[in-house]
Amino acid sequence: MPDASHPPSRQLDVAIVGGGLAGLYAIHRLRSIGLKVRAYEAGSGVGGTWFWNRYPGARCDVESLEYSYSFDDQLQQDWKWPERYGTQPEILKYINHVADRFDLRRDMQLNTRIKSAVFDGTANEWTLVTDGGEQIRARYCVMAAGNLSTPRVPDFKGLSGFKGKWYHSGLWPHEGVDFSGLRVGVIGTGSSGVQMIPLVAAQAKHLTVFQRTANFSLPARNGPMEPERERQHKAEYPARRRAAHDTPFAIAGYPKPTKSAIDALDEERDAAYEAKWQEGGSISYLYAYTDLLVNKASNDTASEFVRNKIRATVKDERTAELLAPKDHPIGTKRLCLDTNYYETYNRPNVSLVDVRSDPIEHITAAGLSLTSGAAFELDAIVFATGFDAMTGALREIDVRTSAGAVLRDHWEGGPLTYLGLMVAGFPNMFVVTGPGSPGVKTQMIASIEQHVDWIADAIDHLGKRQLDRIEPTPKAEIDWVHHVNQVADSTLYPLANSWYMGANIPGKPRVFMPYVGGFDRYKKRCDEVAAHGYEGFSLTRHATVDA
Ligand SMILES: Cc1cc2nc3c(=O)[nH]c(=O)nc-3n(C[C@H](O)[C@H](O)[C@H](O)COP(=O)(O)OP(=O)(O)OC[C@H]3O[C@@H](n4cnc5c(N)ncnc54)[C@H](O)[C@@H]3O)c2cc1C
Repeated sequence: MPDASHPPSRQLDVAIVGGGLAGLYAIHRLRSIGLKVRAYEAGSGVGGTWFWNRYPGARCDVESLEYSYSFDDQLQQDWKWPERYGTQPEILKYINHVADRFDLRRDMQLNTRIKSAVFDGTANEWTLVTDGGEQIRARYCVMAAGNLSTPRVPDFKGLSGFKGKWYHSGLWPHEGVDFSGLRVGVIGTGSSGVQMIPLVAAQAKHLTVFQRTANFSLPARNGPMEPERERQHKAEYPARRRAAHDTPFAIAGYPKPTKSAIDALDEERDAAYEAKWQEGGSISYLYAYTDLLVNKASNDTASEFVRNKIRATVKDERTAELLAPKDHPIGTKRLCLDTNYYETYNRPNVSLVDVRSDPIEHITAAGLSLTSGAAFELDAIVFATGFDAMTGALREIDVRTSAGAVLRDHWEGGPLTYLGLMVAGFPNMFVVTGPGSPGVKTQMIASIEQHVDWIADAIDHLGKRQLDRIEPTPKAEIDWVHHVNQVADSTLYPLANSWYMGANIPGKPRVFMPYVGGFDRYKKRCDEVAAHGYEGFSLTRHATVDA
């Protein structure tokens, strides 16, 4: 509803784009410092990732006691997670509870996509335009549009002529899909594919998995929440959350490794990996030794251990070899967690097709065919092909300024930010867990809270000094991007063709986007920047707009 005193447009202190975990926390936090805020969400409900990704098996791969908000102790004490890793419906229920409990819906507008955001340097305000033509004027703009929120369906020839039904994991029908009795093809074996494949296989008449890249997956060891574990965790909650800030992945509770993998004896190493394998979870495994993500020889030992597990599980030798990843070190792509993924390939109704050596040529009316001419008849196709990650959502919005800066152009050679929080030339626009931040390499809710807190403090700092404009200096931005790349180059991450690099999107610049120096180092740096009067940012006063 437009503000009656300004019929053509709405005047806010802060306009927030996105109604996922980041957008919701931004409403709460920014409102708490007296700002007039409103969030705009394209979907018909809150929850972001957990609203859209309703495919079978969708659940978090960081334990729910960790993967939850920490900003309110009573909330984290009250909420009961029924399983070690929450399912998508449980997480969505939690997010809706938070929206109600903190009365967030009154400052949120659903079914509203932001199409453009233009900064007027003279008026010192952003104007956002929605798909319904509404104009929103705001002093600040917070982009909480998500890193994995732009689903990508590959541009296959013939899809429109397919006679069956097709789905994308990130745009799943709310009423669910019944695959009983159907011949189903799943394209993609990243996290979503790995989670859904065992469940689709259990339902379908036949499941054909089309794999381009084999990914490492570890057992989740999911199960009902153990009451004693929950009690203990809750008793230690505040201390654990604080301790998480001093860890690279923003997750506490894992003993810090002290030794390089290559300094361990073979038997000792195998025993350590076996213990982690039995425990379940990815952080634990990558924490087995100090150098698994920086030393190729060390990583080879951890990668080979998992490859051998795959060989021991999957009965057909050729299928096992196809599933055993050999083109990237373990942990350099998003490490999957599964329940019975590799076991699923022992089912008589499941087959694996290598579309790296024989790519999909086109979708036919009856299914799909490969370059070799091999054809598959399918009643349903599922694209588990991921997202235009990290920059997709922002590039879909026409972001520009009256001074002539255009975000898509500024990022043509790859995204440029300072601390992943702001972009030079785009004043008063903040990004939550954007490229250049460690967000996607951490327990993301911890990063979201840290980013939003920093943004709220910065806006508060400006307000208290009668300042109203903040933007990074071009030098600070260049130095940060250089630093992000230097840190990445000192690790094994660049050895993988991953979505961290934009490698899943044809034509996207290959730039390493996340900061992999660790949440702990990043947070310290953000805190220091603020403590030193927002070092690297220019803070000024401009003509103030009447509300
Ligand atoms: C299947 C899956 C599992 C995951 N599991 C984990 C996990 O276990 N642990 C973890 O830490 N992270 C996980 N993630 C990452 C997850 O994205 C984050 O943890 C978190 O949910 C991100 O919240 P967000 O609010 O930043 O973004 P999102 O949840 O992506 O929300 C962004 C919202 O912005 C909206 N939006 C985008 N553009 C516009 C626009 N122009 N106008 C209006 N609205 C717009 C979108 O519709 C979306 O609802 C997972 C991601 C996926 C896809």
